[in-house]
Amino acid sequence: MEKHTSDLLNRLSESATLAMARMARELKASGVDIISLSLGEPDFDTPSVLKQSGIDSINANETHYTPVPGTQRVREAISKKFQRDNGLAYNADQIVVSTGAKQSLANVILSLVNPGDEVILPAPFWVSYVELVKVAGGIPVILPTSIQEDYKIHPDAIEAAITAKTRLMIYSSPCNPSGSVYTQKETAEIAAVLRKHDNMYTISDEIYELINFTPKHASLAAEPGMMERVITVNGVSKGFAMTGWRLGYIGAPKWIADACTKIQGQFTSAPCSIAQAAAATAVESDPSISQSMVSAFLRRRNAMHASLSKVPGINLNLPMGAFYLFPDVSDLFGKSFKGKRLENSDDVAMFLIEEAHVATVSGAAFGTPECIRISYAAADEVLEEAVRRIHVAIGQLA
Ligand code: PMP
Ligand code: GLU
Repeated sequence: MEKHTSDLLNRLSESATLAMARMARELKASGVDIISLSLGEPDFDTPSVLKQSGIDSINANETHYTPVPGTQRVREAISKKFQRDNGLAYNADQIVVSTGAKQSLANVILSLVNPGDEVILPAPFWVSYVELVKVAGGIPVILPTSIQEDYKIHPDAIEAAITAKTRLMIYSSPCNPSGSVYTQKETAEIAAVLRKHDNMYTISDEIYELINFTPKHASLAAEPGMMERVITVNGVSKGFAMTGWRLGYIGAPKWIADACTKIQGQFTSAPCSIAQAAAATAVESDPSISQSMVSAFLRRRNAMHASLSKVPGINLNLPMGAFYLFPDVSDLFGKSFKGKRLENSDDVAMFLIEEAHVATVSGAAFGTPECIRISYAAADEVLEEAVRRIHVAIGQLA
């Protein structure tokens, strides 16, 4: 048989985060003592009260198809959460729950982007944004930032990139992979630029909202006049350690929520009914349910930042949220080990997995090829050992 794969498939890259996690798992299975700091997921278990909510939902026979955008209960719970935590007045009919925030993003991008439309992506961006834009036939317009500006985009750079063909901008705060958090003032400055342009929308990906070491999370849609221009993406994967439940959501102008519902109705019908029940309990609960996890992440961030800063060739910003470090490793380019030269961050990530047995992710997939991403969602002693190994391996470069 001839094997034909579609042009769409051929355009798409494998998810770099998942690919690195797979490689780490395979090496581990073959007996190599790998420390995997590649995948971005909390190492904590889902809080018991949320697990119980899922069990109760099964016992109550909530095991049927739900409405495509989600049950009334979960959408009302999310609507109240948006009001309580973010000052956002989304009605329940402006909420769509999906199989992970990843599907939420796919729904929005496929709803809004035509082939040839431009989509602004401040870099570093999360790996799947660029691939989903490619699926829609959109043209990614990548705006670089650097460690000197804490990997945050300046509003003037956004203004300069907007053309008549711009349809969308996508960014996250707290940011995966840089951990940078936009302040209220910076968010207002971005809003001031976006408000001038009626041809474009912005996805504000706030999935790391609860893992924020600054006193306050700023939602772009809360800025004056932004409700009709912004799609707020969030979910329970990160803040409530519920990655495997696969539940994300949007708050959006109603016509965009309706468009996402139409797309989702053809792809998946609706997310899992049981996950919807547990997610409703999660967003109804006081956000302090996540407090012990957030404190652990802050402790690890401090420890990792201090110890990695001592490794020559590693330059760090101080991430204020999420659970990643995103060191600039470009000082290592040109150095060699066993005759192999490190030319870029792909080479550095490969060198670290092969020689230090520590799995990270190359910054190239995040649009920032000077960097690598290190997740610190792992036990303190594992992180300490990982830094020790990285230090030893980099010490062997000539
Ligand atoms: N956005 C960002 C920035 C992420 O890091 C992730 C990774 N989990 C997602 C969206 C998707 O999350 P999920 O599909 O697990 O809800
Ligand atoms: N978002 C996580 C990460 O960046 C999970 C992996 C993924 O969904 O791609 O590692």
